[in-house]
Amino acid sequence: MTDLPASPPLTLLGEEERLFRNSVLEFARAEIAPRVREMDEQARIPPELIGQLFDLGVMAIEIPDAHGGAGGTFFHSVLAVEALSSVDPSVGVLVDVQNTLVINALSRWGGADLQQRCFARLAIDTVGAYALSEAGSGSDAFALATRAAPSGDGFVLNGRKLWITNAREAGLFIVFATVDPDAAYRGITAFVVTRETPGFTVGKKEDKLGIRASSTCELVLEDCAVARENVLGEVGKGYKVAIETLNEGRIGIGAQMIGLAQGALDHAVRYTRERKQFGKAIAEFQGVQFDLARAATELEAARLLVYNAARARDAKQPFLAEAAMCKLFSSEVAERVTSLAVNLFGGYGYVKDYPVEKLYRDAKIGQIYEGTSNLQLQTIAKQLLG
Ligand SMILES: Cc1cc2nc3c(=O)[nH]c(=O)nc-3n(C[C@H](O)[C@H](O)[C@H](O)COP(=O)(O)OP(=O)(O)OC[C@H]3O[C@@H](n4cnc5c(N)ncnc54)[C@H](O)[C@@H]3O)c2cc1C
Repeated sequence: MTDLPASPPLTLLGEEERLFRNSVLEFARAEIAPRVREMDEQARIPPELIGQLFDLGVMAIEIPDAHGGAGGTFFHSVLAVEALSSVDPSVGVLVDVQNTLVINALSRWGGADLQQRCFARLAIDTVGAYALSEAGSGSDAFALATRAAPSGDGFVLNGRKLWITNAREAGLFIVFATVDPDAAYRGITAFVVTRETPGFTVGKKEDKLGIRASSTCELVLEDCAVARENVLGEVGKGYKVAIETLNEGRIGIGAQMIGLAQGALDHAVRYTRERKQFGKAIAEFQGVQFDLARAATELEAARLLVYNAARARDAKQPFLAEAAMCKLFSSEVAERVTSLAVNLFGGYGYVKDYPVEKLYRDAKIGQIYEGTSNLQLQTIAKQLLG
């Protein structure tokens, strides 16, 4: 006998969770699906689609009702990112960064005044971005060189950030800089910088392999004056803001990867039932069925890891290794499932007229951003070995 309360299966959604997920999925299929190819080719998400995402309520999921948000949970964010990514992982990551990084960091570390000012914008029409990486500091994020020099009652920021998701669309940026390069990680401080701040510029946009519609740009900070009230958390504690937010954020990337893999698997199931060779649907060949069955099994395992990490986070239980495992595994599954989908489409899988070619390209990023797979393995090993 156990003294634990009976717990429902991880993938069994509550009534409200199910309705929320279904509404996002319906929106994605009706409003995003017809635009996916054009957005990929033009490498942009149209502003009117971003407006619709705000109307749908997925750009402020965890912002409390009192601040104009949806008052949802982290798990709701995971459901939204998964549903959107099954149709377009570029839209998935736009929503993911907004919720699991930007709003999450502000909810956790922002004082009442900063929250009030930021949430008022993020809940209505402002996209957020999270700027940690630089040309010389990726995995070794705390080797960042962007400088925040104390000046008057605030700071003056100088430096360059690289690879910043949402930068083209964003109005509000969480920027990490050091107030004291000699203090190593203890100098790192998080700042809220708005796009209109003098000395702040969004630079070159990257031309990418996948998630092409999602913007990834450089940020240039040249004598960019930021008020002390815009420090997020404490001066010198930015490393904590970064580590703890990214631990949660990578669950969102797990959600993006399982959504993407589900999208590819759905396309493969549909196609193999329709495509005839040797006088029958290719889905009737056992070789094809076994490939699909293995993909569905791996995807189920990845979803359990993602949902468990997200539900552990909402239940305030430890989830550090769980988050790393879910991102590591789901990004590998996404790569395998999308590769299989391309194989099962045959020659049609290799061209842009069918959707799986794009999902295959999109999957690769899951093993790189918010900590490469090696960095996830490092986190898991540390938990294991102490
Ligand atoms: C499309 C895209 C969007 C992004 N969005 C954002 C964003 O919004 N905000 C942001 O701040 N950053 C963002 N990034 C940056 C991203 O997080 C980094 O690219 C990533 O952390 C890897 O850093 P790096 O590119 O410098 O690679 P490196 O750190 O140079 O790694 C290169 C290789 O070395 C391996 N490696 C490095 N150190 C070790 C080690 N100790 N042990 C074993 N292997 C190691 C890595 O696993 C990798 O295989 C984005 C990147 C891309 C491509």
